[in-house]
Amino acid sequence: MSIFTIPSSLCDEIEKMMNSFWWGHSGARNKGIHWMSWDKLSMHKNDGGMGFKNLTAFNLALLGKQGWRIMSNPDILISKLYKAKYFPGCEFFESKVGHNPSFVWRSICNSKFLLRAGHLVVADVILPDTKGWNLPLLTTLLDSSGIDKVLHTPLFDSVVEDKHIWRMEKNGVYSVRSAYRLCVQELLDTSHLKMDDTWNLIWKLKAPSRVRNLLWRICRRCVPTRVNLWSRGVNCTTVCSLCNDHDEDSRHVFFDCPSSRNVWSMCSFGNKIIAALHNNYAASNLIFDLLQQLSNEDASLMACVIWSIWKQRNNRIWNNVIDAQNFVFSRAAALINDWCAVQQARPDVMGQLARDNAIPSKLQEIKKLPRLMPSKAFLATSSAFIKPEEDTIILVSSGLLLVPSTSPGVSVSGGNIRET
Ligand SMILES: [Zn+2]
Repeated sequence: MSIFTIPSSLCDEIEKMMNSFWWGHSGARNKGIHWMSWDKLSMHKNDGGMGFKNLTAFNLALLGKQGWRIMSNPDILISKLYKAKYFPGCEFFESKVGHNPSFVWRSICNSKFLLRAGHLVVADVILPDTKGWNLPLLTTLLDSSGIDKVLHTPLFDSVVEDKHIWRMEKNGVYSVRSAYRLCVQELLDTSHLKMDDTWNLIWKLKAPSRVRNLLWRICRRCVPTRVNLWSRGVNCTTVCSLCNDHDEDSRHVFFDCPSSRNVWSMCSFGNKIIAALHNNYAASNLIFDLLQQLSNEDASLMACVIWSIWKQRNNRIWNNVIDAQNFVFSRAAALINDWCAVQQARPDVMGQLARDNAIPSKLQEIKKLPRLMPSKAFLATSSAFIKPEEDTIILVSSGLLLVPSTSPGVSVSGGNIRET
């Protein structure tokens, strides 16, 4: 991918496969609903996307790195070779693909437009007639302290050699990351897909990623409530499964449904939820409004309550199980407490554990952590965990390692490690 241009048809095919995987579909028969196009999913997280890679842009950014090397390091062997073969009498930017070129050279030439967009030489910021600095251009490139330094730099009458600068990085050196960003934002121009909300409020939440993903889905109207399903052509009822009284849209199921209101009344910030319901109409507005109002801890709990309400709704529909409202609240509280406990444990022990890949020697340290044990209610009720047996270690996908409190010792032999 960093040497050759990947055909656009192949990029499309891979992106379709990734899109299907993201929305949880497999096989030709089970096509399901793709709630959002890959173009929207591949936008930056702060613009309302999921930050997935646009493969065409990523391919160009990688190829651009090869072009940059050839251009900015003329003395290395590969640069000399390409110059001798493809542009002996001119500079890299003036070069043509030429007759019967190699696929590598043709691929590098494809990225030339990206290099032009981010490329500068020092001569570009000097006014040719007056021999002064081009202040308007400098203000687009540097902060005030940088501009001051440049303006105090005297200019020679003539300059023989110049330097290639990548304007997207402060150090002036090409990076695939900044080139990818330039390619997506300016050249492929996905600005019309941008959603003007403070998405960062969701992504900076201290909560499990499945909870943040659910919030994002609600705000992008990708959550399969019955109203959303019906609007996508699914032949189903739109009545709320919890109260059988109203249409099940996002606002109703998460906030307005009597069952959900009872759950919110158990939160210390329940009055703020009720107040917000008077001011906002759509569920996404409510969520962003509340995330701004609430403290970090309350916002995390609110997100987990939303997740727990959604679990309650799904249990009702798919398992015909009615979760009690106080249980819905305690499940959310247990989730955030346990998640926080793991995050506190992670930097010192879990991080070291992963680096050393030495699970057995670290088990005693983990056993000493007082907050690592999740609440019994949570273990017994959450489908994310397996009920521990003696001498059993459970590894869960978040990296949490649980050791049963009843176990007199810990063993990792004989298939006693379970992974969920
Ligand atoms: Zn309802």
